[in-house]
Amino acid sequence: MHLSRFPRIRLGHLPTPLEPMDNLSRLLGGPRLWVKRDDCTGLSSGGNKTRKLEFLMADAQEKGADTIITQGATQSNHARQTVAAACKLGLKCHILLEDRTGSDDPAYVHNGNVFLDQLHGATVSKRPGGADMPTEMEKLAEQLKEAGKTPYIIPGGGSNEIGALGYVNAALELLAQANDMGLQIDHLVHATGSAGTQAGLVTGLAACHAGIPVLGIGVRAPQDKQEANVFALAQKTEAKLGLSGVVSRQDVVANCDYVGDGYGIPTESMVEAVTLLARHEGILLDPVYSGKGMAGLIDLIRQGHFKEGENVVFLHTGGSVALFGYPGAFDFPDYTATT
Ligand SMILES: *Cc1c(COP(=O)(O)O)cnc(C)c1O
Repeated sequence: MHLSRFPRIRLGHLPTPLEPMDNLSRLLGGPRLWVKRDDCTGLSSGGNKTRKLEFLMADAQEKGADTIITQGATQSNHARQTVAAACKLGLKCHILLEDRTGSDDPAYVHNGNVFLDQLHGATVSKRPGGADMPTEMEKLAEQLKEAGKTPYIIPGGGSNEIGALGYVNAALELLAQANDMGLQIDHLVHATGSAGTQAGLVTGLAACHAGIPVLGIGVRAPQDKQEANVFALAQKTEAKLGLSGVVSRQDVVANCDYVGDGYGIPTESMVEAVTLLARHEGILLDPVYSGKGMAGLIDLIRQGHFKEGENVVFLHTGGSVALFGYPGAFDFPDYTATT
């Protein structure tokens, strides 16, 4: 495996820290918890899409693109990091936002990631929930071509075999850190959505024969569909790397019991997880992905899923600016009341 064979533009602050969460470990009992801080990749407040964009943006530049097109849900962290990368490289960026939640809360529609998309100068337009977003992006690309532009389409979440190389790279980075620290990692847990993060991680770890099981906590699709998506992308990723037979179907494990009512819809366990991390570790999670991912991890710890003394690494995939799109999910006392 030789990642330098692939074009890459450095966009992230890497390596991201790997740190213990001793307060949370003490509070929950059971395994020792660690956090891999991919919320600290640096690009426009960071997140996991930055690693994928290092390879995707390099491919776009190689192909002579002057305009990037991508899509996501209204509070897409991927869209925000994509336009920020486009700014750095002097490219235009068009973002299509799918109204997946139906929320008309002005904070959700205008604040958080949407505010930053506009601050970065993206051309943003909305599509209804359930729209065929890949087709919408193709249509836009045709229009831009007719206007003399050279567009490059990045799929939702940056999840194709090029983007997934960013998480093959993250697997190598994590192993190097663990080796340096003398840390034996027993489990790696993270939120899984468009599948690129998990596909890259399982491919990178399997190619190194690391023996570290990865657990993706789903935020949208049911388990069978999520695992099938991740496995299919892992196979394309290993082919891209010139390997075969590296990832087996059993390497791909997702738990989709923490989605609640649907993608981007708050759950009580997400609110608990976001609040616990904020108050005991000083770490900001997000309401759509890492909050539900951590809610899953907390519940599994409480159920005794992990052994005492095991080291469990939570990959923090970022997204905290989406908190500003969900103020209503948190019920704080009214501090303006004069007491
Ligand atoms: C996109 C995203 C994920 C999920 O990563 P995928 O590669 O799409 O599975 C997790 N957390 C955050 C904060 C994200 O923005």
